[in-house]
Amino acid sequence: MKVASRPRIWMIKTLDEQVAAKFTASHRFLIASHVRPDADAAGSLLGLGLALMRQGKSVQMVLEDGGEKFRYLPGAEQILRAPQGEVDMIIVVDCSDSDRVGAVLNGYGQPDLVVDHHKTNLDFGKINMVEPAQVATAAILFDHMPAWGLEIDADSAMCLLAGIVGDTIGFRTPNVDAEVLRRCAALIDLGGDLTHIYNEELVMRSYEAVRYWGSGLNRLEHDNGLVYTSLTLADRQDAGYLSDDDADLVNVLSAIREAQIAIIFVEQRDNTVKVSWRTRPGLDVSGIAYQFGGGGHAAAAGADIEGSLAEVKRRVIHETHKLLGNLTKEMGV
Ligand code: 5GP
Ligand code: MN
Repeated sequence: MKVASRPRIWMIKTLDEQVAAKFTASHRFLIASHVRPDADAAGSLLGLGLALMRQGKSVQMVLEDGGEKFRYLPGAEQILRAPQGEVDMIIVVDCSDSDRVGAVLNGYGQPDLVVDHHKTNLDFGKINMVEPAQVATAAILFDHMPAWGLEIDADSAMCLLAGIVGDTIGFRTPNVDAEVLRRCAALIDLGGDLTHIYNEELVMRSYEAVRYWGSGLNRLEHDNGLVYTSLTLADRQDAGYLSDDDADLVNVLSAIREAQIAIIFVEQRDNTVKVSWRTRPGLDVSGIAYQFGGGGHAAAAGADIEGSLAEVKRRVIHETHKLLGNLTKEMGV
């Protein structure tokens, strides 16, 4: 029997429309980002969170390690270390996999929306807005927030600008082009204070942090294009430096002319080592970080690797020399 054909209307929504619809339907939001947050994690979290709050939404902005480091950003004092109660929409920003959020989302299920620019992203959300060509997650938010019905006011602009300044290390990464600067100019027009952000994020350091750098710089090594050093628990104690990161010493290492690749090893309390790689244009360290269970970008990547400092250093240095093409058969590889 012949069935009369009816015209079919495809209701395919764009990603922006899906996000906007979910925003409209939701009242209680949970936004999270990664452990050991950087300016893009905190800036994206706050830039989006503050805009939702201004619409009268209830928003929990959560970082497992807290937002103390980002006190220079508006709204940072509202960052929680753990969420409470039920929520309608879960958003994760600047995170390539769910492990990297820490324990924050335990019991909360799959994120509704993931916004990220890491090419190692595992698409772990229900909606995944992943744009690896973008310099920062904050830049993705700048592009899409208007389409989601969200206004970027001076506070949000400040936070998004911090994300871009942080992830480009002050416009020093090779992915910075005129478009990126135009976005920053627009954020400055909206009220972002570039000088303040630049100084707070990239220039000013505590006395303890710089003393801590001293320990790492004292044991700096250079071997065939690979420049590396380590920072130990004892170094942190000696310097009175309270966080468990490298205090951005990796940026100093990556400025060393001889470094094709720079690596920093930061000893942790739980028999793991936080490893950060940085490299020059033309090389890609995201694969090696991924191989060790981490992730990141071509020019900057990291991983938390289990083992003692000595053991992790040996394994990572060996694999990184391989990436640099430094190891030949005669050297036993
Ligand atoms: P950093 O070395 O400054 O911690 O991070 C450099 C880049 O690699 C950042 O984009 C950061 O998000 C990513 N990254 C660092 N550590 C990890 C990790 O353990 N897992 C994943 N997936 N990405 C990481
Ligand atoms: Mn980022």
